[in-house]
Amino acid sequence: MSNIPKLGEVKDITRIERIGAHSHIRGLGIDQSLEPREVSEGMVGQINARKAAAVILQMIKEGKIAGRAILIGGEPGTGKTAIAMGMAQSLGKDVPFTAIAASEIFSLEMSKTEALTQAFRRSIGVRIKEENELIEGEVVDIQIDRPASGAGIRVGKLTLKTTSMDALYDLGSKMIDSLVKEKVTAGDIIRIDKGSGKITKLGRSISRLRDHEVSGAKVNFIECPEGEIQKRKEVEHTVSLHEIDVINSRAQGFFALFAGDIGEIKPEVREQINQKVADWREEGKADIIPGVLFIDEVHMLDMECFSFLNRALEDDMAPILIMATNRGITTIRGTNYRAPHGIPVDLLDRLLIIHTQPYQEKDVLKILKIRAAEEDVDISDDALALLTRIGLETSLRYSIHLITSASLVCSKRKGTEVSVDDVRKVYDLFVDVKRSVKYLKDYQDEFLYDTQPTTTNDQK
Ligand code: ATP
Repeated sequence: MSNIPKLGEVKDITRIERIGAHSHIRGLGIDQSLEPREVSEGMVGQINARKAAAVILQMIKEGKIAGRAILIGGEPGTGKTAIAMGMAQSLGKDVPFTAIAASEIFSLEMSKTEALTQAFRRSIGVRIKEENELIEGEVVDIQIDRPASGAGIRVGKLTLKTTSMDALYDLGSKMIDSLVKEKVTAGDIIRIDKGSGKITKLGRSISRLRDHEVSGAKVNFIECPEGEIQKRKEVEHTVSLHEIDVINSRAQGFFALFAGDIGEIKPEVREQINQKVADWREEGKADIIPGVLFIDEVHMLDMECFSFLNRALEDDMAPILIMATNRGITTIRGTNYRAPHGIPVDLLDRLLIIHTQPYQEKDVLKILKIRAAEEDVDISDDALALLTRIGLETSLRYSIHLITSASLVCSKRKGTEVSVDDVRKVYDLFVDVKRSVKYLKDYQDEFLYDTQPTTTNDQK
């Protein structure tokens, strides 16, 4: 557990998932009395579902919903993910939000329960409070090495003399960058900000002046300062439990976060970390922030996964679990039983269920307008009307995609505003699902090989 301190460097990782298709969603768009505004914070319509989500959010904030989970049911593209995202946004900037599709659990190179455990731990934030210290002193010696085995990874040591002690510091990469940038050499008086790793050169040591003849150089000579260690404000970092797991599970754990080469994490590591976090909580050094885990297409999970979820929700650190499905009564994967949404009744029993409704024309128009603004695309009114019609006849998601491609076509012809013709062009270029299926049916006989016989099992 010794390599935890560089937490500041990893805190933004959970935010990466927030950009993209839902980047226009900034909250649930509700007022003080939990009433949804027609259009607010990027959210449009879907009033009942948003109101239900707002009530749940209030319960979460009041700590009344531990160990509970939410199910959002509704047709594809009716904003289930958008609502989950809106809930996460309203919970605060430090709250981790993880979105996965249930089918991912089966495609990763790890066991299903390991994949789910990682998803759970990604959704639990640990807010760590650290005392930030400023240390000032005279540089006695600096050594920076670049080990042959770890190209690009530098390590270093700094010997610093202060009025009360001589101290040896291990240098982090930020500190090394800062030392190099400031051209620090022995004899400099420096200030180290331990929190950020930033090093500032304050001047030269007066004792060196006595040793050396310095002529004409404009150097600021100062005594090694008194009271060299000053406690400053408390700084807070939020990282997820999963990030702490990864950092501690192997020598170069931190880099594995970026390489995606995480693999399975040993249960002993997790136990140790749970213990450590429990100690920190007791000492007032850390708080747990339960985040939101969103599992889309939840009907794709099987019995083993559902029992895992049931158990995991009992944990006192459990995040808020939001699941979404567009299925009605269907078989529970891996069994012969049919159940509402393909979810076993014991789990269904603890769920709060929200339904989303298909969109009306005016809602589709507003969502498309918001998306165009989000993507910085100027679009004419009639092109927007055409996109709306396309959205209603095909899918909202398809027409959202057309905004980006139509804007490319528009800039290709050096236009400044997406026109009806631009939309028509991309509509012909990229087919929606309905047309794609029709194409497949029309040309089925000409395909070289036949696929498996059609199945009625909707989980295939
Ligand atoms: P699926 O069942 O296919 O997973 P979904 O119900 O989760 O679909 P989303 O992905 O949330 O649908 O919606 C499709 C797109 O439309 C997204 O870009 C989403 O942000 C946007 N969107 C959907 N509903 C709304 C809404 N009410 N307000 C603003 N944007 C919305």
